[in-house]
Amino acid sequence: MSLYHSTRSRALACSSKDAIRTGIAPDGGLFVCDALGGEKPDVSALASKDYAAIAREVLGMLLPDYTPDEIAACVDEAYANSFASPEVTPLVALEGAGEADGVGTYVLELFHGPTSAFKDVALQMLPRLMARTSSDSADESIMIVTATSGDTGKAALAGFADAPGCGITVFYPEGKVSHVQQLQMTTQAGKNVSVCGVRGNFDDAQSAVKRIFADQELACRLRKRGVALSSANSINVGRLVPQVVYYFAAYAQLLRAGAVKPGDEVEFCVPTGNFGDVLAGYYAKLLGLPVARLLVASDKNNVLYDFLTTGVYDRNRPFFTTTSPSMDILISSNLERMLYFLSDGDCDLVARLMGELAESGRYEISPDLLAGIQEVFGCGWADEKQVAEAIAACWQDHGYVMDPHTACGYHVLGQTPAAAGARARVLLSTASPYKFPRAVAEALGLRTPKDDFACMDVLAQATGTQPPAQLSCLADAPILHDSVVDIDRMEAFVERAAKKL
Ligand SMILES: *Cc1c(COP(=O)(O)O)cnc(C)c1O
Repeated sequence: MSLYHSTRSRALACSSKDAIRTGIAPDGGLFVCDALGGEKPDVSALASKDYAAIAREVLGMLLPDYTPDEIAACVDEAYANSFASPEVTPLVALEGAGEADGVGTYVLELFHGPTSAFKDVALQMLPRLMARTSSDSADESIMIVTATSGDTGKAALAGFADAPGCGITVFYPEGKVSHVQQLQMTTQAGKNVSVCGVRGNFDDAQSAVKRIFADQELACRLRKRGVALSSANSINVGRLVPQVVYYFAAYAQLLRAGAVKPGDEVEFCVPTGNFGDVLAGYYAKLLGLPVARLLVASDKNNVLYDFLTTGVYDRNRPFFTTTSPSMDILISSNLERMLYFLSDGDCDLVARLMGELAESGRYEISPDLLAGIQEVFGCGWADEKQVAEAIAACWQDHGYVMDPHTACGYHVLGQTPAAAGARARVLLSTASPYKFPRAVAEALGLRTPKDDFACMDVLAQATGTQPPAQLSCLADAPILHDSVVDIDRMEAFVERAAKKL
């Protein structure tokens, strides 16, 4: 059977269920599976398959110890009723793009789930996958602990609220998420739910969460109470693999639209923070999807751009708070998995680089490894002004409104000539523009009233689009969570939350 092991060592191997249940490997590495790509979906048959059928096929290959019935049940529970589009992730053509060279540009809308961010695609699935794992002790509960830069938190809360056998604790950086994002989290109902602001930025909070996971004494105290910690961040395999599906679903829609023929290559451009979304695109490529190139789009926090162009990863730099908060990240956790696969599974190298990153905040890879990475990944970034200009230009040229994260990708697409051999370019749209109504209205030169919900109305009127109901109703929802703690009090908060389980 294909087993998962840490990116930093092959010493311990486990099933995909165990990898999902534990979240992160005991040595601090991320779970990977060497059999990835050994079995491939039939690309020429994609056109006749709907999202659920593609999901069953792809997830079955990536999570081999789940039975087909278990996978089918998870897919059905996650996607049958909770997405506003029958395609789940609909593909929209940008009218007029690519007329010169015949390479059309498409937007893959990933934001039609319950919280209007792409993270719903994975976080509607993860609790279902988690529920079908089991531990040796029958009545163990799992406490999901997650740091969020804005969108993961709400999507995880929506997925795990009142999920049997689970609790969820979310930490968000106080004052560094949008008003709508903050309300989405602080109004979350559910008996097993805890939400807390943190004085610090996302990287501080994420690093603290990693320390909480590594704290053996805490683990021991919680075990006595029947609680095990796990992660809903994209370091969890069960969070990562559902994202592979929509790359295939995008290709299926391109086939149906006649935009590509089976085997034609497609370029994907991905607004990137923690590197989970774009890594899923790389997994799709390893699974045989004809991917010409993956364009990694960053905002002003362009640590990935520097890494992908020079081979030096250096987080010792200023941190910028931008209009694309979910990409305001200096440590992209899933880069570790990419380094693993592109170094042909060199655990020692990965362990050494991650050790250097933890110690000095910096590491450098060999020119050979960099060249291999650059064959697959392109890159670019947008500053705040370019993001605003991209939102305005896309509206003007194509009558399409996008959010600031997606706009980073739109800017990078415009800057970068299409990859050789690409027959279509697909921009992944990671959030509804209505999650960031102020930034979008401002970019379009519209009025920006003090209240974000009034900005939604302005945006709706000017563009003839509709805010998703789950966002507009937040204006009247009661605040249920108002805790804010310092970084060094996060662990105590988790322990208190665990007592409620
Ligand atoms: C999380 C997020 C991203 C970044 O995705 P990663 O998988 O962390 O690279 C981009 N845009 C939005 C809106 C997000 O919520």
